[in-house]
Amino acid sequence: MKDCIFCKIREGKISKIFIYQDEDVMVFPDINPVKPVHLLIIPRKHIKDFLDLDNANLENKLKNVIKKMIKENNLENKGYRIGLNGGGAQAINHLHIHLMGPMGKKAAL
Ligand code: AMP
Ligand code: ZN
Repeated sequence: MKDCIFCKIREGKISKIFIYQDEDVMVFPDINPVKPVHLLIIPRKHIKDFLDLDNANLENKLKNVIKKMIKENNLENKGYRIGLNGGGAQAINHLHIHLMGPMGKKAAL
């Protein structure tokens, strides 16, 4: 999608070091981290909003990549938060999931 920053990153038009990528999903650090670990887990395909996500295989893949990132970043026992902004709360209209941590029980973002 033209003018989409995450599509530009996918296409290599904006250079980015990927933490993980496969044919469906890409992961890189948020440019403005709110926690020591703050990753964006993103379907490569331009899906506009969470409500437009209707592919069970992709949903499963995203879930598995989130789990992998939690483990690889040693957040299993340190606390983590998974966040998804949608319906206009998002700044970027290309579906992305925030993974943040370490996160205490009552820690604010
Ligand atoms: P949201 O409010 O859920 O749409 O969040 C968008 C996130 O994308 C914000 O946390 C930004 O810091 C992050 N972001 C914007 N541009 C970039 C970029 N070029 N590389 C990495 N993260 C970005
Ligand atoms: Zn896009």
